[in-house]
Amino acid sequence: MSAVLTAPLADTDPAAAAPFIEKRPLATYAAPAQPSLVGMTRAALADALGEIGVPERQRRMRVQQIWHWLYVRGAQDFDAMTTLAKDLRAALARRFTLARLEIAAEQISVDGTRKWLIRLPGEFDGMPHEVECVYIPEADRGTLCVSSQVGCTLNCTFCHTGTQRLVRNLTAGEIAAQVVLARDRLGDWQRGTNASGEPEKRLVSNIVMMGMGEPLYNFEAVRDGLAVVADGDGLSISKRRITLSTSGVVPNIARAGAEIGSMLAVSLHAVTDELRDQLVPLNRKYPLRKLLDACRSYPGVSNARRITFEYVMLKGVNDSLVDAKALVRLLKGIPAKINLIPFNPWPGTKYECSDWEQIEKFSEIVFDAGYSSPVRTPRGRDILAACGQLKSATEKLSVRERLALRAMAMTD
Ligand code: SAH
Ligand code: SF4
Repeated sequence: MSAVLTAPLADTDPAAAAPFIEKRPLATYAAPAQPSLVGMTRAALADALGEIGVPERQRRMRVQQIWHWLYVRGAQDFDAMTTLAKDLRAALARRFTLARLEIAAEQISVDGTRKWLIRLPGEFDGMPHEVECVYIPEADRGTLCVSSQVGCTLNCTFCHTGTQRLVRNLTAGEIAAQVVLARDRLGDWQRGTNASGEPEKRLVSNIVMMGMGEPLYNFEAVRDGLAVVADGDGLSISKRRITLSTSGVVPNIARAGAEIGSMLAVSLHAVTDELRDQLVPLNRKYPLRKLLDACRSYPGVSNARRITFEYVMLKGVNDSLVDAKALVRLLKGIPAKINLIPFNPWPGTKYECSDWEQIEKFSEIVFDAGYSSPVRTPRGRDILAACGQLKSATEKLSVRERLALRAMAMTD
């Protein structure tokens, strides 16, 4: 199996790339003894250098050098950092590592979609936690779906993550390190040039904070982790290609605009407070009017920088044509994109996904109101979703999951 684990994406021909999963038993888990520099912010790196006695006046320059090795070159070994003096490399290696997040399992689908189950150290009892990260390649982009928390404190009734109690927040380093992990596994560090001498496109070009957790309830870590991801001298994924999805933590929306500056997606899912109170219980605290006001004043929002409204299609619950018309009315005046997400059922859920015909009729109303291709799925297919229950489904990604993940990856 390990041969498959290391297969680069380019080699995945449909016959060879049988979806697989290799899950390491928890018994093999050992929490890292030394801290890793991978995922660290500039400030954390400067502190790390301070710990090993690098004088303050040198730290900025050293951080810049190490930054390049970590986030442009993807160095896996301190010895590769040839712009650093040998002594410094040795001092770093004594105290720190360049360890990546531990991959407990990896799946590769025939179309190149990859899903990693990541094992993270526990906080108190030493027992590890698991979150997922998914890569979705498309013709014009490659989107990485990143997690921000283990579990979630909010209990959206249609979301499987909501049934798991929050175990812990991810650190900024663990958020940024998901991108490093994807670049490693995809061979996506320094790219060659194409026939016309232009640099080849990155495989991971877009990020969506749509994995496990509510990013705006782990604000500082998400902000700092995304600053590492967006840093132009490093991983260099521009903020316009990063989308943060929130269930509607209103006080942190303006703050996200000011301090993170990414694109915003809002999990709307209902057009009345009565229904949204049931589906997204956070609505009782921050009702629709307040949420939409926060969207209207989201810094930088414009027709070129629209807010994505996610709307999960639940049969007989929120999918009537009256709902569709109300949705269009509700969003009037807000530069918006609408992303209809086919519901992805999970064991024990009381909801079903809307029928495809109903999704089509619903999307036609949305389309006629001027919103283009709200469901990015082939016509006539029975399609369902994936995020929000990433961790639970470790068998192969179904076609439905893949299609729905793509629908969620709608960022530009
Ligand atoms: N907590 C954030 C981001 C993670 S969830 C949020 O709620 O926005 C990412 C998206 O997947 C959200 O729009 C969420 O509502 C949706 N989602 C969750 N469970 C789902 C399911 N079973 N089927 C379809 N979409 C789901
Ligand atoms: Fe949490 Fe988002 Fe799931 Fe709601 S939809 S429970 S906010 S992860």
